[in-house]
Amino acid sequence: MYKRQQPYCQAKSGDAKHVGGVLVTGQDANKPVERREPNADMTTEQFKEAYRNKLYSLYAKTLEAASDKEKYLTLASLVRDEISRTWLQAKKLRAQQQENQEKQVYYFSIEFLLGRMLDIHMINLGLKDTCERGLRELGIELAQLREEEEDPGLGNGGLGRLAACYLDSMAALELNGHGCGIRYRYGLFEQQIIGGAQYEFPDDWLKYGYYPWEYRAADEAVEVRFGGAVRLQANGRIVYIHENYEAVSAVPYDIPITGYHNNTVNTLRLWSAEAELAKQACAAGQTDCRNTLQYKQSLESISHVLYPDDTYHEGKVLRLKQQYFMVSAGLQNILRDFRKMNLPYANLPDKVAVHINDTHPALAVPEMMRLLVDEAGLSWEDAWDITVRTMSYTNHTILPEAMEKWPEDLFRTLLPRIYMIVHEINERFCRELWDKYPGNWEKIRHMAIIADGYIHMAYLAIAGSHSTNGVAVLHTDILKKEVLHDFWEIYPQRFNNKTNGVTHRRWLLAANPKLASLVTETIGEAWLEDPCRLQDLTQYADDAAFQKEIAEIKRRNKQVLARIIQQKNGIAVDSDSIFDVQVKRIHAYKRQSLNVFHIMDLYQRLLEDPDLPVWPRTFIIGGKAAMGYYIAKRTIKLINSLAEVINNDKRIRDKIKLVFLANYNVSLAETIIPAADVSEQIPTASREACGTANMKFMMNGAVTLGTLDGGNIEIREAAGHSNIVTFGLTAPEVLQYYRQGGYNPWDIYHSDPRVKRMLEKLVDGSLSSDREDFRAHYDSFLHHGDQYFVLKDFAAYVAAQEIINGKYQDQKVWRRMCIHNIAHAGWFSSDRTFAEYAAEIWRLNEAAISCQDGCEQPGFSPIAKRLGTMLQ
Ligand SMILES: *Cc1c(COP(=O)(O)O)cnc(C)c1O
Repeated sequence: MYKRQQPYCQAKSGDAKHVGGVLVTGQDANKPVERREPNADMTTEQFKEAYRNKLYSLYAKTLEAASDKEKYLTLASLVRDEISRTWLQAKKLRAQQQENQEKQVYYFSIEFLLGRMLDIHMINLGLKDTCERGLRELGIELAQLREEEEDPGLGNGGLGRLAACYLDSMAALELNGHGCGIRYRYGLFEQQIIGGAQYEFPDDWLKYGYYPWEYRAADEAVEVRFGGAVRLQANGRIVYIHENYEAVSAVPYDIPITGYHNNTVNTLRLWSAEAELAKQACAAGQTDCRNTLQYKQSLESISHVLYPDDTYHEGKVLRLKQQYFMVSAGLQNILRDFRKMNLPYANLPDKVAVHINDTHPALAVPEMMRLLVDEAGLSWEDAWDITVRTMSYTNHTILPEAMEKWPEDLFRTLLPRIYMIVHEINERFCRELWDKYPGNWEKIRHMAIIADGYIHMAYLAIAGSHSTNGVAVLHTDILKKEVLHDFWEIYPQRFNNKTNGVTHRRWLLAANPKLASLVTETIGEAWLEDPCRLQDLTQYADDAAFQKEIAEIKRRNKQVLARIIQQKNGIAVDSDSIFDVQVKRIHAYKRQSLNVFHIMDLYQRLLEDPDLPVWPRTFIIGGKAAMGYYIAKRTIKLINSLAEVINNDKRIRDKIKLVFLANYNVSLAETIIPAADVSEQIPTASREACGTANMKFMMNGAVTLGTLDGGNIEIREAAGHSNIVTFGLTAPEVLQYYRQGGYNPWDIYHSDPRVKRMLEKLVDGSLSSDREDFRAHYDSFLHHGDQYFVLKDFAAYVAAQEIINGKYQDQKVWRRMCIHNIAHAGWFSSDRTFAEYAAEIWRLNEAAISCQDGCEQPGFSPIAKRLGTMLQ
């Protein structure tokens, strides 16, 4: 059922040749990879001089007097200069392209989890070696400066990180792809662990400004309107007049996204809410100016913080405001650019693709309609056709509680004109359904965009776009067969799958430089531009010398992480133990509690028999819990309480350690993942749409221990069934249970004494002096039906852990598994994912797919050519 075609990574696997002792592949054997390193010719001496001058001009200080922060900012400024130079060229090129009318993609996302940028830009621009050498000669360690960069936390987790990986790949593939999002003043909170529990502190990422990596473009600000009322005026045709609204300035900040060695610079445009217009209105006597300061604050609060708590009404309003703010500013900007081309609007879908990443930007559909109908004067029918052909949508979750819907009243008050448009879209959509299913009210009500007082954002996105994709084969399958089955029935051609990917440049080349160098020494550097070439490593899977080097690199990465754990947590861990890692948002469906239960059980067994044949193990867990998510926050406390007990128990002779690493973010991920032996990917089957951390771990040679869910299934296909360990209920089984109303956890409680013992430990004071601390967990497992099948999968999980323990003891077998994982990680590069999006959804290369040898024809864009070869 999960057989997938894999043309991207299989096409040329037979072509590897050895040339001069180095393995090179395909055409590359004869032709060196074309490198365009803009500053390959800058000498170390020139760098040092430029660095000193920059430091003087920025801070009027000598090297000796400068702080690390100032040294970092000096380096970043030099890199910025280099970006500016390249960017200017890229903009010129883009202006030409617009004349030649190449299609532009705009990826709308409420989150972009970029991570630090210094390293990536230096690598992409070909500057890293020169900078590192030059700094060393000045007595500065690059690694130290790197730590000075703030990690902009403009996302919660996977969704935002995915958007950032895609930006990287679009630039690397030289696609005209840009991001559109919000410049939150405060990112996701900073997590601190105090007394074992999570405390949230504001993430003041702009404390020192984001000067090196952003460019404010105030002259391109646009106005976004909220509230007010709509009046109809008939002057030959009906005109909608929006009045008494509140106007906010959306001011763009552009973050350059550099491509790998290709002189491409794309743009991530983040919008910031400012009250400039309010000031003007006040000056012009249009508004009451007595409370201007308060008013200004209220307007600017729109881009104040990522995902404000929506438990209260106020929070909900703010969140809807954010969504409309981003979409309206983004689309106005796109249409302004489009108009410069002097083309009829009917051509918009050939020149522009707007991608809706999850439902948060789904208001792009009615906003595009507003701009085309109200402002450009198109007919509803024409505008609708253009909108549908321009938009595409990715679904990221099937969790019912994550399916966004907005109360009609709130929506109508905040966005009166948009509400009218959604209403009209719904009317027409229901009429279409009526023609298809005459008299079937039940079905129509079930599919309606507005029903029972709510507006369903996913339905709006599907109805208003030409493509809806899931993010893993299984996930797309579940969308078609279950969650969105009715929609799939009417629009089967709109549904497709695009399995997620991660950029191998950040997650392997930058995060694990030692492994990256070994790979390049072994198979050449073709993998950097064509990650599928990693497959050439398979022939070294049993090579003793190669295995030894792989093991040595892993050991050194583990030593680095062990030092960090010592510093941060004050816990001494053995870098020869198995590093067993689960890092991701804390959520019931991700089942950190299953991990905890296995650790509790293993601990118990070690107490009973200290000579138990288990390889020493360090369990590492990290992740943030949403601020208002009680049980997830308790899970963090549970992990820390258990850690306290285990790490201080001399009887188990350090055989196991448990560490919770606080404030998980991209930078921490970049240190943890290269050091992992075991990648814990254990969600309840069917609940994790795809996952992306699973791919990052694989790329770094960790072995997945996972359920048959999301991307894990495809990882198993790619790496080979013997190179990953899977367990537990399958998705069809879980879905069957859900249909039946669940299962009875008491059966397991009574039949498995281990389960009973552990559950009792949650509430008998063994882990915490407050017996109520973990009562909510206890109740969720026993009294609320164990919704996520933790107890049900427990025995299978323990058995799978035993397999891991066994395999690790035979180091030859283990290293072989690691190598196979690295070798087959190429397919999970976001370069592959993006080539698929570009070809199949945005159709950037209409001609390229069919182009086999005609690619040399004049006028054929190099991008199309490149995509053509990638997808053959
Ligand atoms: C990759 C990544 C995620 C996503 O992890 P999953 O395990 O796929 O949910 C979340 N946060 C950060 C910081 C990441 O780098």
